[in-house]
Amino acid sequence: MQRYTQALLQPWADSARKLGLKDIAFTDHDRYHAGIDFGEIDRLRERNPDLRIRAGIELDNDPVHSAAGREWIEKHWDKLDFVLGSVHFLNRDDQMFDTVPAGAVQFEHQNIDAIYADYFDRVREMAGTGLVDCLAHLDLIKIHGHFPTAGIATLINETLEFIRAQDLAIELSTAGWRKPVNELYPSDAIIKLAIEKEIPFTTASDAHSHVQLGENFPSLAQKIVDLGIRQICILGKHKRAALPLQL
Ligand SMILES: [Zn+2]
Repeated sequence: MQRYTQALLQPWADSARKLGLKDIAFTDHDRYHAGIDFGEIDRLRERNPDLRIRAGIELDNDPVHSAAGREWIEKHWDKLDFVLGSVHFLNRDDQMFDTVPAGAVQFEHQNIDAIYADYFDRVREMAGTGLVDCLAHLDLIKIHGHFPTAGIATLINETLEFIRAQDLAIELSTAGWRKPVNELYPSDAIIKLAIEKEIPFTTASDAHSHVQLGENFPSLAQKIVDLGIRQICILGKHKRAALPLQL
């Protein structure tokens, strides 16, 4: 946990400028909410008037910390531009399944289809909290390279329907390209299903350091072209705006 200061935040603004990103968002994990200082984000905005800087947070299903995270989000809802919802925990309370490489043990000798079904149950639970605007890394469950034998459409359809009904967005996150699975989150197949259901997309790099900001965005842009995505969305004060793409 690190407290937000200008020394901590300014390198992110510098990285954004260097990459030509004009609009970025901080989305710390909710377990680190004690470090977030909206006054420091405001100061960063003042010091970097050429950038649009959004305040977000990622709420997950941490069995220990997320109850406090939910409370914090409710209290600071009006200061937040958006909340990401995610699932990092399956049956083990003491280890995120997406820890690399340790979390892969949670998949050993398991029925992968059942793990996927359990994971998507938890995603729907998160989507139904009423506290999230967008789902982060929707198919994180593939992180270690485990794929179901059942078709992904069968496994995820109910979840996509629910996301649509709740009027939530989903991320196109380049983070998957730096993980063992080496794929965008979510997969092309899931993106195609989401397009059919008119679920809106955001773009994300899930950078855990300013060095990872906008990582693989040229590849993401190519993917957006290849899949025929015409617009992405931007969230401000929990309101969604469509941004048509000129590609
Ligand atoms: Zn996450």
